[in-house]
Amino acid sequence: MQAKVSVSKFNQLLESWASQSPPIMQFTVENVLDTLGLDSSYYSKVLELLMKRNGDEIIAQKVALCPSNHKLRTFLIDEEVDDNFECFCHENEFEVTKFKLVFSFEDEFKADSLKKKENRVSRLKDLMLI
Ligand SMILES: [Zn+2]
Repeated sequence: MQAKVSVSKFNQLLESWASQSPPIMQFTVENVLDTLGLDSSYYSKVLELLMKRNGDEIIAQKVALCPSNHKLRTFLIDEEVDDNFECFCHENEFEVTKFKLVFSFEDEFKADSLKKKENRVSRLKDLMLI
């Protein structure tokens, strides 16, 4: 049986990424797996954890890519994409067929995570003064 993904480690990771300056933006499921030391068999579990927070703490997005994987534009996950695109590597406009799934943080979650981090730091400072 597959081991469970530690939700508390997952939460800590999100908070630490959101409280970095600048915060980590447009991270992928693979980034989370790598950082937590999980292999790709955990992909769907981590994806599920991320999607549960979509619209709340996290914004799920899709990045339109050209056939040579250049980033074109970022859309919300449910947004319809019916435009044609141009890329410097292409002579003509083309329809996008490749997307990369990425996640970013809501502003409020970034602010909250930063506050928590600052509180932690000031508590540690208090301890050092004793
Ligand atoms: Zn291109």
